[in-house]
Amino acid sequence: MLERCLGLRRLRQIQRACRRGSLTFLCLFLTVVVLRGTIGAGKFGTPEQDLNEIRHLYAYRSRRVEPHRVLEEAQPETTTNDANNYATFDISKILVDEAASADEPKRDPNAPYTLGPKISDWDEQRGQWLKNNPDYPNFIGPNKPRVLLVTGSSPKPCENPVGDHYLLKSIKNKIDYCRLHGIEIFYNMALLDAEMAGFWAKLPLIRKLLLSHPEVEFLWWMDSDAMFTDMAFEVPWERYKDSNFVMHGWNEMVYDEKNWIGLNTGSFLLRNCQWSLDILDAWAPMGPKGKIRDEAGKILTRELKNRPVFEADDQSAMVYLLATGKEQWGDKVYLENHYYLHGYWGILVDRYEEMIENYHPGLGDHRWPLVTHFVGCKPCGKFGDYPVERCLKQMDRAYNFGDNQILQMYGFTHKSLASRRVKRVRNETSNPLDVKDELGLLHPAFKAIKLPTSS
Ligand code: UDP
Ligand code: MN
Repeated sequence: MLERCLGLRRLRQIQRACRRGSLTFLCLFLTVVVLRGTIGAGKFGTPEQDLNEIRHLYAYRSRRVEPHRVLEEAQPETTTNDANNYATFDISKILVDEAASADEPKRDPNAPYTLGPKISDWDEQRGQWLKNNPDYPNFIGPNKPRVLLVTGSSPKPCENPVGDHYLLKSIKNKIDYCRLHGIEIFYNMALLDAEMAGFWAKLPLIRKLLLSHPEVEFLWWMDSDAMFTDMAFEVPWERYKDSNFVMHGWNEMVYDEKNWIGLNTGSFLLRNCQWSLDILDAWAPMGPKGKIRDEAGKILTRELKNRPVFEADDQSAMVYLLATGKEQWGDKVYLENHYYLHGYWGILVDRYEEMIENYHPGLGDHRWPLVTHFVGCKPCGKFGDYPVERCLKQMDRAYNFGDNQILQMYGFTHKSLASRRVKRVRNETSNPLDVKDELGLLHPAFKAIKLPTSS
């Protein structure tokens, strides 16, 4: 009957509307239940009280999402509205520079700089600690040291509007690599020693972390502008069993040429031991900013090959330290170039497409770079040494190159190395556990934990 009156199509529409209506009602009901749980009505809550609270919450919400209605509905103070606007807020209002307070001890500028009280029995102290704390072993598997990856950035926001977005991409990239390889991460944003600002900030930080985490065997420093581009690569730890300091570099360039780019300090491994505390002490004296750093810069430019004129930097200081102290340090320093523990972006990024086709993860001649470092781009600063467009484009490509290796585990990939968007590379299946990812990253052998088997 109804069908005849309204016509079949109309009836279907009404039925659909009813179904939608009951769905809406169900949603409303669930919202009430959830809100009831979230805001709570207290011990004496009544349905009426609930309703009032919800009405209040909604009134507040709608004010937030519908600013034009606020204007209409008798809100004379439009300043409220401006005050809610992030886009027009002057961030300098809350980022006032805090001057050093008077109660902070000032270092005697004539006394030589030190990173902290002299420690000369760290190996004994740490060995004892490890013995007393067997639940925190410094090796978490055969040939698998416990590693802490350390990176960081300035306590202030970047000096350009996109810098912090690239810091976010960069830390996401590191989190992905570390999760796959059972490595912990420490992200530092505190300047522990005001004198060691900028590229020297890592030194006091590294020392503090080594001393606070005796369970950590290797600390892995990585710059914020460096990204992992071979997610499957497990560091060949056994190769470094007799070394304490592993950097990307070439012996001839450092020890013979004293070339300032003979090694790179954007990504390196440092073993937790007395030797490392000693080399940190020997490395630090050129760091204090101001006169010391400026004068040291002149020495480094004079003594090192091809170094431009600028204040002392940690990398040049390390080349200088090794080149002038080979007998003291050389035998425990491993300058690695079998793979890119640190890879300079300028020679890598243009070749990613070719690498995806013909190269492979891991070791060997045609290997993907483990790390790609955007030396000179200064993505968090005001000015870099290269065109901004080139840097940002290439950083996106490096990020996507690494991220594709993560996404493939879940059946996705970026549409291209230039694209934020992703596409499916596998169809969904009702047997998800049968899916094997290409690089074997879902359950990598190097991450497996071997429990003692009961026999
Ligand atoms: N860094 C930091 N705090 C700072 C400045 C720099 O932790 O206040 C770190 C950051 O990870 C950066 C690295 O030190 O990548 C090297 O600093 P540099 O000024 O050389 O920056 P980059 O050349 O890497 O952009
Ligand atoms: Mn860097």
